[in-house]
Amino acid sequence: MTAEVIVDIAHSEVDKIFEYRAIEGVKPGCRVRVPFGGRTIEGYVMRLKEGSDFDPAKLKSVLSVVDEPLTEECLSLVESISSRYHCPKALVLRLFLPSEMRKGAVRELFKTIAVLKDGTAEIPARAKAQAAAFAFLQDNPRFGYTELCDRFGRGAVNALAEKGVISLEKERVLRTPYSGVQGQAAERTLTPAQSAAVENIGKSEKTVQLLHGVTGSGKTEIYLTLIAKALAEGKNAIFLVPEISLTPQMFSQLRARFGDSAAILHSGLSAGEKFDEWQRLRTGEAKIAVGARSAVFAPVENIGVIILDEEHDGSYASETAPRYNTAEIAELRAKYNGCKLVLGSATPSVDTYLKATEGEYNLLKLPERINKGPMPEIIIADMRREVRRGNNTPFSAALREELENSLAEGNQAIIFLNRRGWAQSVVCRECGAVVKCAQCDVSLTYHSEENCLKCHYCGATYKMLSACPECGGVHLSYTGTGTQKVVSQLKELLPQARILRMDVDTTSGKEGHYKILKQFAEHKADILVGTQMIAKGHDFPSVTLVGILDADMSLHFSDYRSGERTFQLVTQVSGRSGRAEEKGKVVLQTYDPENYILRFAVNYDYEGFFKHEISVRKSTAFPPFAKIVRVMVVGEEEKKALEVLKGVYFSLQEVFEAHREDFLFFNKMKSPVKRIQNKFRYQVLMRLSDERLLPEIYTRALQYKTRDVNVYVEENPSNLS
Ligand code: ADP
Ligand code: ZN
Repeated sequence: MTAEVIVDIAHSEVDKIFEYRAIEGVKPGCRVRVPFGGRTIEGYVMRLKEGSDFDPAKLKSVLSVVDEPLTEECLSLVESISSRYHCPKALVLRLFLPSEMRKGAVRELFKTIAVLKDGTAEIPARAKAQAAAFAFLQDNPRFGYTELCDRFGRGAVNALAEKGVISLEKERVLRTPYSGVQGQAAERTLTPAQSAAVENIGKSEKTVQLLHGVTGSGKTEIYLTLIAKALAEGKNAIFLVPEISLTPQMFSQLRARFGDSAAILHSGLSAGEKFDEWQRLRTGEAKIAVGARSAVFAPVENIGVIILDEEHDGSYASETAPRYNTAEIAELRAKYNGCKLVLGSATPSVDTYLKATEGEYNLLKLPERINKGPMPEIIIADMRREVRRGNNTPFSAALREELENSLAEGNQAIIFLNRRGWAQSVVCRECGAVVKCAQCDVSLTYHSEENCLKCHYCGATYKMLSACPECGGVHLSYTGTGTQKVVSQLKELLPQARILRMDVDTTSGKEGHYKILKQFAEHKADILVGTQMIAKGHDFPSVTLVGILDADMSLHFSDYRSGERTFQLVTQVSGRSGRAEEKGKVVLQTYDPENYILRFAVNYDYEGFFKHEISVRKSTAFPPFAKIVRVMVVGEEEKKALEVLKGVYFSLQEVFEAHREDFLFFNKMKSPVKRIQNKFRYQVLMRLSDERLLPEIYTRALQYKTRDVNVYVEENPSNLS
């Protein structure tokens, strides 16, 4: 037999099938070691066949089989994913494996246990330790070897082993993430609206289902019911959430419902945990893969349903090669398995909602909250007026008053500001210079806790300056309030309040998010200040007030999606308020109170927002009525990058000249952020009215990639910096 192998080298030149003589145990899906160009590397067996196209005498043999990590489904999707995203098949295969596994850095963890074999053995009386260990083993016939030695001494335990009284066996130990999280949530009876949605999804002929339910409408319960149904049919499930929605509540609900059947995959896990959870899914021991973006590649077979919660969330677009779109992959997998893909959101992306209204997706609506309560009232605070009144704190009078009320009533509040650190930038008041990162074209953020400047792009840290690096002036001003400063000012304002802060700086470590959210859920703090991490997913019944400090921030990005983002953000953050019995309030601070996006958000008018937005997109020919394509050219040496850019540009210009009717825009330029981590960034930006030229654009652009200059293509990038 001949094995068709893809070698684990992500390079277009070796992106093809190599043939090897199969050895015993080689099957499709196996990871094997093969000789390649004078060394031994890993590869994946795609197929087996009789005979070979090559001279059988020259055919090299597979050296050994490592394991069998790839499912049949994976093998059948590799080709289409690789051609869809124009990347080597080896890169696609890597998505299906935890990276730690590839490098062989983690293995299964085994523990030695002592197993009592002979319960009647006679131990000489003078061997006291042996006798004690023997007596102990009568009650604990399987016990950890190391722990047993700790209690009774290694000599005694080994003596028992030598006599054959106990045998030492290896037992697999599973590293379970969040093992401290207990499930408590009871199974609930679905409301009529929830049942109707579940039934409707079951009957629908369409693969993709869009569940559009306001915040607090009970979407999660619907997901859990659909998963339970899949399990009852002997099938498995995938449950995708944005990284930041992997909250303690989510875990405890899943544990309560599904126990160990749920396996969690996300970047916060240790390598060992990730490996074990992945293995549990691969062997079928676990039936539900729960995780962020990358869990869409979970090794789950026989899938009964795929859930993709908070479908509008930007984190579903991969920002490293291959730049896949999670919903697209999920849809491929749903079609392969003949199951449904359920997208859920309170604020579906405009693209998705258009498909639902046009009938491509089945649309289900949950317009009411579970508690039938009203949506929280959103009070607009005009910050221009506050400034005129001489208020130069980040808090409007309205927010201050509501915070005091909330505290007095023993409720909790959330304050949202999407900017971490103390001050976003440091500006010299004498020459106007902004302090920038040495490696990136961005301003540095002042962090008060470490008294340093940090670059939020590359993570570099700099000592705080006492004078301007440009002119030596000593009058530096801090602009753009961040979460640290907000907390400090809140403490002055409300000295009695207990405050927690949640942002990238406070959530490092494996269970960093979890710890903060747990404290807040246990009401060990009155106010939670945070960045977008706190915007969604969380369900804290005692939160009755949400303050949005700077609702305009996302409006001012020069991005066609800024209106959509702002609407989503305001709705999501507001949705954290008043989820239980008590009515919720939101104070939305803005310098632009008349803005139509905010008006729609204040009235929870998604339909109104959608109609308006979609007509703007149509008349200006932006996505989903056009496709934005950005070819990035990134390199450390500016000269080399420019050379590559020239090549890319002229090649694409030929396409442009030949198909002008397909182009709404075509130009080359510096990227808005000209340099990140010492790499210069140039781009060719296009807007296409038709997708048919995409493959040609990819092919032409990617061929200019060199060792020093990276070239990649982004479609409708979520971040144009
Ligand atoms: P969403 O995901 O739509 O924002 P959730 O699923 O978090 O909403 O539900 C909101 C609240 O309602 C949660 O506290 C949840 O426990 C509760 N809930 C959901 N479904 C039911 C039900 N059928 N009966 C009682 N409470 C429910
Ligand atoms: Zn930097």
